[in-house]
Amino acid sequence: MTHLLKHLTRLKNIHQNFDGCKISNIIFRQTLQMSSEVEKAKKANQTKQNETIFDKIIAKQIPADIIFEDEKCLAFNDVNPQAPTHFLVIPKKRIPKLDDSGDSDRDLLGHLLLTAKTLAKKKLPCGYRLVINNGPDGCQSVYHLHIHILGGRQMHWPPG
Ligand SMILES: [Zn+2]
Repeated sequence: MTHLLKHLTRLKNIHQNFDGCKISNIIFRQTLQMSSEVEKAKKANQTKQNETIFDKIIAKQIPADIIFEDEKCLAFNDVNPQAPTHFLVIPKKRIPKLDDSGDSDRDLLGHLLLTAKTLAKKKLPCGYRLVINNGPDGCQSVYHLHIHILGGRQMHWPPG
């Protein structure tokens, strides 16, 4: 145990000296959450225009940890975080998935991406990852288009 702590402290020092980023996330665990997310995605209702939990969050009918809002979109922390920082940016307009977006959504899609970037740049100066899940094989579990922004730990490639 002491050995592990020493090792972690050393890693922390090395990492901080290297680029000043936090390493608090080294012990972050995610294996259990991952499998349950795939299960959720398999069971998710893909019926196109159905109301989802995100409509209720937009309407403030159920609470969420909202970090940004404007007339077109909403950003809030994921209830089941897969990284030390994990939030979502969603359009207020109901678009079930990226496949359902079209040319008329060009500005909106750009706005979502720029909003994600602005928030991520502030919170995650060492880098971050954006994820859009589309359909069952893409592991989409809520059929309201959303961008996942994850960071605060080292991401790996290829993603799972
Ligand atoms: Zn999702």
